[in-house]
Amino acid sequence: MKTLNKEIQSSITPRKALEILKEGNNRFINNLKAHRNLLEQVNETRDGQWPFATILSCIDSRTSAELIFDQGLGDVFSVRIAGNIVNTDILGSMEFACKVAGSKLIVVLGHTKCGAVKGACDHVEMGNLTELLSKIQPAVYQEKSTSENRNSSNSTFVENVAEINVKRNVKNIIERSFVLEQMIENGEIGIVGAMHNIETGEVSFYDEVTFINDEKNPNFSLNDLKY
Ligand SMILES: [Zn+2]
Repeated sequence: MKTLNKEIQSSITPRKALEILKEGNNRFINNLKAHRNLLEQVNETRDGQWPFATILSCIDSRTSAELIFDQGLGDVFSVRIAGNIVNTDILGSMEFACKVAGSKLIVVLGHTKCGAVKGACDHVEMGNLTELLSKIQPAVYQEKSTSENRNSSNSTFVENVAEINVKRNVKNIIERSFVLEQMIENGEIGIVGAMHNIETGEVSFYDEVTFINDEKNPNFSLNDLKY
């Protein structure tokens, strides 16, 4: 696998970036890791980095973005926080990753059996975690299909909330970052939501929150997000 440089990065479209991640996850779940010399990549990236994607995922030890998408050094910006939530500092990091460093795709990646989502489902309060979990609460309230056992003992409820949380955060990023919204509208970057099944390693991308303005999507509009 080639280490990215400025030329390769600029040739990658948002759609291609999505394909690269899908291919990488396919290698991961089939145990077909691409050949990489990481020490050589240390040398090849000594003067700069040109990552093609920015991935917002959970701190969960089973969900390392580089591992599950089979990527090497210098390939992806990895933003990790419990429950893959969005805050101002994370938006700033993503704006740097895309506008300054040339990344082409933002992925909001949730995962199954997420402890942070379970904590939000149980309305856990503890130290600074309380404020973090409050950012997942809107997804808990938005889940309307469960009437009984709305807590972490109900795995269907937990996974529904995790999915809503990912989709809400895709919208959050577009609504709260003018820089990124403009880049998405101009087709310079794309954004997508996805769910990582920690039992299989497989990542499923949500078509309904895939926003890529290119020839495959002639009626592209972010208008339906605005309210
Ligand atoms: Zn998690």
